[in-house]
Amino acid sequence: MKISIKKSFLTLAAGCALVLSACGGGQEDSAGKQTSEEKKVLQVGTEATFAPFEFMDKGKVSGFDVDLLNAAADEAGYQVNIENTGWDAMFAGLQSKQLDIGMAGVTINDERKKSYDFSVPYFESISMMAFKEGTDIKNAQDLKGKKIGVQNGTTGQFSAESVVGKNSPSISKYETAALMFQALQSGDVQVAVTDIAVALEYVKNNPDSGVKTVSDDQQFKPEYYGIVFPKGSQYKADFDKALNELYSNGKYAEIYKKWFGKEPDVDSLKEAAKQ
Ligand code: GLN
Repeated sequence: MKISIKKSFLTLAAGCALVLSACGGGQEDSAGKQTSEEKKVLQVGTEATFAPFEFMDKGKVSGFDVDLLNAAADEAGYQVNIENTGWDAMFAGLQSKQLDIGMAGVTINDERKKSYDFSVPYFESISMMAFKEGTDIKNAQDLKGKKIGVQNGTTGQFSAESVVGKNSPSISKYETAALMFQALQSGDVQVAVTDIAVALEYVKNNPDSGVKTVSDDQQFKPEYYGIVFPKGSQYKADFDKALNELYSNGKYAEIYKKWFGKEPDVDSLKEAAKQ
């Protein structure tokens, strides 16, 4: 009796296994999209000290960029493997094509477009100055004569240089945004120049730091983030299509509201895409 029960259980289990393998064969799911087994995994590099866009949370890269890239990849039928490579290594990895994508709040500009392809714009930004309370900074001209900290090779550096000159000795360049903020806290620099949302997030996360912010839209100009690809990448078109779909179907707005607590201006992104 015992044996026959065991036997029929085994038969049942074998039957289930067959059914499972038949179902899990990597065919199309009910929505007609590719199942995860078939999805190509794209390698992504980032610099994860750039909250709220990308930062380490319990050992995982999190942030607006991560949510947006995952949604876009899902829409386009890919999986992404996001690694905190660091800023310079991200660009090197794209150049050597070891990485398929760079996602790090990277501003689209003409210089970078010579070496990389960019998606359609996905976020509007502008430079902002962050400094300890009591530092005399009312506008960008006040950068003159101050010790300035920037993240090396970023638009924060270029904005500071637009006031105090390229290669100015008053600018200290740090490898990450985190190191730049540390230098501000320790007094090694008097003012940091970085992207607006990152400066505001720093103040929000460090309410006792005494750090204040000032913007200057006379001196600093709006800039747009794009997903970065190696030149000639086959993935750019898929991700452009996916981003546009997320703009239309409300998913972009959902992710934007989660991180920024307000509605995005999708029309201005679409307008920027035409330029
Ligand atoms: N948006 C800036 C740039 O592209 C900064 C990006 C970053 O520090 N992750 O230069």
